[in-house]
Amino acid sequence: MTFTLNKAATAFAEAKRYIPGGVNSPVRSFRGVGGTPPFIARAKGSHIFDIDGNEYIDYVGSWGPMILGHAHPEVTAELRVALERGTSYGAPTLLETELARLITEAIPSMDLVRFVNSGTEATMSVLRVARAYTKRSKIVKFAGCYHGHHDSLLVKAGSGATTLGVPDSPGVPEGIAGNTITVDYNDVQGLSSLFEQQGEEIAAVIIEPVPGNMGLVLPKPEYLDKVRAITEQYGALLIFDEVMSGFRVAYGGAQEVYNITPDLTCLGKVIGGGLPVGAYGGRRDIMELIAPAGPVYQAGTLSGNPLAMTAGLATLQIVTQDADFYEKITAKTAALCAGIQAKAKEFGFAYQFHQAGSMFGLFFSEQPVYDYASAKLSNTAAFSIYFHAMLEQGIYFAPSQFEASFMSAAHTQEDINATIYACGNAFKKVAE
Ligand code: PLP
Repeated sequence: MTFTLNKAATAFAEAKRYIPGGVNSPVRSFRGVGGTPPFIARAKGSHIFDIDGNEYIDYVGSWGPMILGHAHPEVTAELRVALERGTSYGAPTLLETELARLITEAIPSMDLVRFVNSGTEATMSVLRVARAYTKRSKIVKFAGCYHGHHDSLLVKAGSGATTLGVPDSPGVPEGIAGNTITVDYNDVQGLSSLFEQQGEEIAAVIIEPVPGNMGLVLPKPEYLDKVRAITEQYGALLIFDEVMSGFRVAYGGAQEVYNITPDLTCLGKVIGGGLPVGAYGGRRDIMELIAPAGPVYQAGTLSGNPLAMTAGLATLQIVTQDADFYEKITAKTAALCAGIQAKAKEFGFAYQFHQAGSMFGLFFSEQPVYDYASAKLSNTAAFSIYFHAMLEQGIYFAPSQFEASFMSAAHTQEDINATIYACGNAFKKVAE
């Protein structure tokens, strides 16, 4: 069957009549790579299926949550049962306590957890409590790190903001953006100098410990230890945004891998098993400032929603049933990366490959990538050729150079072989 997106093109035009740009999150529109986005009809395991009848091996995984693959039978069965019990009560449930317990056991730096409905909500709320605790206003973030789309952190943000070339959005008041200071990731000296000048005014440093929103970038050895030491020295809080890396790079997130204890942590994606969930948590003395335990207000009609809690709980329970879950998924990711890298070499491309557990990324750059500036040196035109060549062969990667890719437990050796084979054809097109 020849690859077409005719139905998607019609659907996209129709969607644009009612939805800005036709999508509800910008990168989905394919602005970074051009062309028409497939409209998805259903998904199962490692595969997604579009309305034109195309089938794809999926390495987007809904941008991270689907670590078990799509429509996992046990998660789906649990959700069916939960659905019959009602979809929202706005009152406490046992599910919330159980998921919070699992999270605090997995991530020992989190004494208390508050559930919200998205990663954006988690990072927005965590800044409020960090400011209340320290009685300081300024926040430090890193160029190319994305923490959601609220005003304080939509400053030199990666992800869609980079893909669309609008890292600083109109509509963010200067008064708010002015309290956010941006420094370069992996640059200890830059952070140190900033703290020497303004350390007493800084409430918190928020960081993606393993940034996945400028493509996948890895921390240099000891970098995160130094960030921890500097924040501690000045009495600023360290917030790990593990919305993407939590329960993804390891069960205990990047803080387990790098053995760092942040003061506060944000989660999302995997802990919702594909339903809308975010969470923030951390040290008891800080988290007890949150209402109703303390005076810092934060609330949510649908927070701790029973369907979302059920999907998250089922996901974490399945993951923990296999003691080697993370070892296996990491090995599978390494095999895929090695295969793609070997294909790239055949064509003389010395591209940059990064992996963190089941997250991986490929920069179309011959220079090492360690921060936002070096990520942006990538050849996005070559990436677009590669991306479309893969899509046409039934391999679905994120439609942007500046996004990470995700392996799931459902991906098979056959999927991996097919992906590596398709890469050979795609690199051939890039070389032409
Ligand atoms: N933080 C990080 C590290 C993320 O990757 C994302 C989303 O990709 C967010 C926060 C925002 O989460 P959400 O899209 O659920 O609002």
